[in-house]
Amino acid sequence: MERPKIPQRMQGVVLPGGDRTEIREYAVPRPGWGQVLVQMKASGLCGSDLKFIYHDHVGTGGSQYQGVIAGHEPSGQIVEVGSGVSSFTVGDRVVVYHINGCGHCAECEKGFMIGCTSPERQAYGWQRDGGHADYLLADARALLHLPDPLSYIDGAMVACGVATAYQGISRAQVSGRDRVLVVGLGPVGLAVVMLAAASGAEVYAVDVVSDRVALAETYGAAQGIVAGADALTRIMDLTQGQGTEVAMDCSGNPAGRYLCLEAASTWGRVVFLGEGSEVRFEPSPLLIRKQLTLYGSWVSGLDGMDRTLAFLVRSRLHPDSLVTHTFALTDVERAYQTFAAGRTGKVVLTFDEK
Ligand SMILES: [Zn+2]
Ligand SMILES: [Zn+2]
Repeated sequence: MERPKIPQRMQGVVLPGGDRTEIREYAVPRPGWGQVLVQMKASGLCGSDLKFIYHDHVGTGGSQYQGVIAGHEPSGQIVEVGSGVSSFTVGDRVVVYHINGCGHCAECEKGFMIGCTSPERQAYGWQRDGGHADYLLADARALLHLPDPLSYIDGAMVACGVATAYQGISRAQVSGRDRVLVVGLGPVGLAVVMLAAASGAEVYAVDVVSDRVALAETYGAAQGIVAGADALTRIMDLTQGQGTEVAMDCSGNPAGRYLCLEAASTWGRVVFLGEGSEVRFEPSPLLIRKQLTLYGSWVSGLDGMDRTLAFLVRSRLHPDSLVTHTFALTDVERAYQTFAAGRTGKVVLTFDEK
């Protein structure tokens, strides 16, 4: 590919708190050793941005927002390669794994930079400049090739939520032998529905919002259930009183987690993906005597993200269909306001082909 013309200046978005966005001008960075410059094509807005940065700057120590360019779900095309990079070249389409760790702790060695606790750990959009900009400086060791059949928006979806969903179903080893309950149908829950159904499982999908339940059925759920007092009875009826082999909570809500423990069959596997809040339950009837295995699953490793991309290609899936709104970077104020109103699916910033 011919070397693209790279401008001197670019725009980037900072989240100063108080439900505000700010577009600032920056010099376009130049890649150093082991780095590449990515021209951004799609940059997702995430619920964690709202929770920890957009409304107020929540978080302490290493996880604090550092006033950098926001956006930890970047996908784009490489336009410049620094020295020492052999596996990527100009023109490559890429997804950025959203965290660089220290590179040598046990979690980093596993590719789980999310779990790195070193002070060197930096997340894009939190401690180092992220994807809400025309260009992004990325370390090649945290990059993945975006396969041709997938769009840049597919790539941005994988960079956070869809890989999180894939790791969740991998932890529970979901297969065509399973009936899978999915509780909480935000972007991650809908991705779990899509991936579990594509794995051959029979999926039952529960949410308090009936529109989301209907959406889950279009993504492959065999049965959608609007959350309510009769949800457990419905699931038991559907499974001849056995419950589901796998139950995945993507709601982060005490009632959602409790329903998963109740609805899981004897010897079932339960996965908690949704963050925050709490749950209280009686371990004897709900965990011990049911011989349950309970997994916590947090985001994904680099290898898991790569497997997610490959699985989407093999299964001919496009998670860009979970996106309900796209905005230009210059319209970022409206993008966050729309997303924060809580009535959308996924919201993504997209960039013109230049
Ligand atoms: Zn995210
Ligand atoms: Zn580390």
